[in-house]
Amino acid sequence: NGRGTASDAGGGANVKAHFVFIPLMFQGHLIPAVDTALLLATHGALVSIVVTPSNTGRIRPAVDFARKSGLPVRLVELPLDLAAEGLPDGADDVEKVPSDLWTNYFRALARLREPLERHFHAAGAPYPTCVVADFCHPWAKELAANLAVPRLSFFSMCAFCLLCQHNVERFNAYDGVADDNEPVVVPGLEKRVEVSRAQAPGFFRGTPGFEMFADDVEQALVEADGIVTNSFLEMEPEYVAGYAEARSMKVWTVGPVSLFHQRKATLASRGNTAAIGADECLRWLDGKEPGSVMYVSFGSIAQAEPKQVVELGLGLEASGHPFIWVVKNADQHGEDVTEFLRELEGRVAGRGLLIRGWAPQVLILSHAAVGGFVTHCGWNSTMEAITAGLPVVAWPHFADQFLNAKFAVEVLGIGVDVGVMEPLMYRMDQKEIVVGRDVVEKAVRSVLDGGDEGEERRRRARALAAKAKAAVEEGGSSHGNLLDLIKSFEVDAGCFAST
Ligand code: UDP
Repeated sequence: NGRGTASDAGGGANVKAHFVFIPLMFQGHLIPAVDTALLLATHGALVSIVVTPSNTGRIRPAVDFARKSGLPVRLVELPLDLAAEGLPDGADDVEKVPSDLWTNYFRALARLREPLERHFHAAGAPYPTCVVADFCHPWAKELAANLAVPRLSFFSMCAFCLLCQHNVERFNAYDGVADDNEPVVVPGLEKRVEVSRAQAPGFFRGTPGFEMFADDVEQALVEADGIVTNSFLEMEPEYVAGYAEARSMKVWTVGPVSLFHQRKATLASRGNTAAIGADECLRWLDGKEPGSVMYVSFGSIAQAEPKQVVELGLGLEASGHPFIWVVKNADQHGEDVTEFLRELEGRVAGRGLLIRGWAPQVLILSHAAVGGFVTHCGWNSTMEAITAGLPVVAWPHFADQFLNAKFAVEVLGIGVDVGVMEPLMYRMDQKEIVVGRDVVEKAVRSVLDGGDEGEERRRRARALAAKAKAAVEEGGSSHGNLLDLIKSFEVDAGCFAST
């Protein structure tokens, strides 16, 4: 049948597990998927990472470094058929997808199935033993079925978020709730957690045009052979167990996956080319007292209104603390904001560093001078704060961020909330200022100083970081889960041999 063996791949004669990773090409999905793939390779599995051309450059430094170190990693670059779905050239980069063509983008992704099947059926290609597909790729169900291999759903989310989301859905918690902003208690948890439909609608639920897609995503999850996620057991044992039980599925927690990166060079280019040199950034931090700097960033997607940008800047200035502020699309907020940022930089020279563009986030968070993180609570950022032992100022915007914020503030006790109740969808929201400068100032002071409460938060954050690091070391839970994954999905070398 033309199938080769996984060990044909140049990954070494003993490689018998071959994971095909199919990330969603948003940075918050792509980065942790690549890190997870590289971690599996570190433990001896062959991995193939599927990527579309505009995104290859974002992951190439990490992959090249891994290959140079002798890890068995393949990149499978496949173009999206953009024209077939009426998408413009270059729209395999999610930043270039027109806002009214998102359903087309997801349909174009589903078209990857056939070329992928052809790729893995071709003579010479190593045959997979397991597909690990982002949960946003429901079409991977058919791919895995056609390749006759098991399929795992990949998440970079905490089990707390996954379980809350699952429980509100399976127990119909929003039924009869008239107002999307009315809080309901998440059913089936020991802890009382309140959430609104607007804050946690469920994956793709309530997004016009995505009704069927949301059902497909759920169905693909129901039929998956297990779940891999960027969390670690010791942080949330009850939620990992609760979610595995609720789904009747094995959940492999393998995080924090950012700990794959231990060298300045790959840390500095993780996810994209940084807008500031690693050395410049580290030199700046070297000049600051330990635990004194607030790092401020809202991930790769969230956008602020121009007036909110100004308000945040004034709050940071008023806090009196040193800060690194990542200003996304700084040139797109208009003349007034550009001028404001320039003047602010003058006033806080030496105390405030603005990064206009991509920041080497994990590199920064790992520096001893950093003492807190103002974050939108994307799960990767939250997990990176936890890994660095940092308390957070929780400022959620949309998607899973409200649940992550609750997890950090109410469950882990390592955060201060800025009090945002309603989601802000990209640039479509109406309010210009959601969080005032005084709230920013108070939250920053509270996290970096904050008396006994502040000290207690810092202590909890440090304790979690120690557990996070232990989880990925030999004998740790995530380390054990990576080995277990490899063992679970390896096959006898002869199993797929050509017949
Ligand atoms: N990130 C980064 N530099 C930036 C912005 C983001 O390195 O300037 C990384 C960050 O470390 C994290 C990911 O991009 O790993 C963002 O994922 P997250 O889940 O936090 O948020 P999202 O971008 O999905 O909203």
